[in-house]
Amino acid sequence: PFDVLVVGGGPAGAAAAIYAARKGIRTGVAAERFGGQVLDTMAIENFISVPYTEGPKLAASLEQHVHEYDVDVMNLQRAEQLIPPTDPNGLIEVKLANGASLKSKTVILSTGARWRNMNVPGEQEFRNKGVTYCPHCDGPLFKGKRVAVIGGGNSGVEAAIDLAGIVGHVTLLEFDSKLRADEVLQRKLRSLPNVKVIVSAQTTEVVGDDKVTGLTYTDRTSGESHRVDLEGIFVQIGLLPNTEWLKGTLKLSPRGEIEVDARGETSIPGVFAAGDVTTVPFKQIVIAMGEGAKASLSAFDHLIRMPVA
Ligand code: FAD
Repeated sequence: PFDVLVVGGGPAGAAAAIYAARKGIRTGVAAERFGGQVLDTMAIENFISVPYTEGPKLAASLEQHVHEYDVDVMNLQRAEQLIPPTDPNGLIEVKLANGASLKSKTVILSTGARWRNMNVPGEQEFRNKGVTYCPHCDGPLFKGKRVAVIGGGNSGVEAAIDLAGIVGHVTLLEFDSKLRADEVLQRKLRSLPNVKVIVSAQTTEVVGDDKVTGLTYTDRTSGESHRVDLEGIFVQIGLLPNTEWLKGTLKLSPRGEIEVDARGETSIPGVFAAGDVTTVPFKQIVIAMGEGAKASLSAFDHLIRMPVA
């Protein structure tokens, strides 16, 4: 069995694996796609001390750094079930889609999250060419330009407020007849001169040439179609944690994120979690790495307190 088994190979999982392996303990990583969301990213300009890098390059560095150590990397392996130990100091089991079963004294869950898509024509085609999901990452790329934010929940309205300070103009489109964000955020939004809010708007298409040049939407009350000319579209209609396989096993928040304490421990002793899959706010690479390191040190702390067999 492993001492530490990491499930997920994004920034959080890679950091957790390196921190564990450096303690000289038996460490494994099972990942569906090593590199995680970073593989889908182009420019990265907020990974501190690295002014500019690109997703595939950072993903390759993550993998290379993990391979510096004696870590059993099981790539292209999807975990399907977590089975807590029957007695407090027993082994935790992780079942893989290929039928294999892995056992470990501690487990670190770092299966990340995925952005909910609009599923309209042009969205995939113009991904990283004007369509983006991360205001903290890509806001500065649209300095002085016109952008839309899709979604009037808290994250959409927060994004619009944030972007209004950087870009030239923000159009916020909400499907419902009213915004769903907290009133204090809505009030702040309405006070900004360069933001326009359109409700009852169903986005129908992302248009562009080699980059985004606009979007079309249908006014759901009149049924009329309209076009907005702009350079960027920030989609803020939800971030879905990859926890479907954990439902009923450990404590999840109403949004499906794994609840962790300040040490990264979940509701199951010996099972830790880190990165975008958890309730820890702000989904960023540098944060996921820090959380991964922290969960790993907590797992080590747990191990040294386990009774000698
Ligand atoms: P992830 O990166 O999501 O990794 C999850 C890992 O778990 C993957 O290996 C996945 O295959 C695996 N996995 C999932 N389910 C299972 C399963 N059941 N069994 C086994 N393995 C599983 N952040 C920034 O800081 N700066 C940026 O510029 C930036 N740009 C971004 C651009 C895009 C397009 C996107 C999508 C995200 C961007 N982010 C950026 C956010 C950043 O990528 C994430 O915060 C970060 O990758 C989270 O790391 P993680 O390890 O928690 O999860």
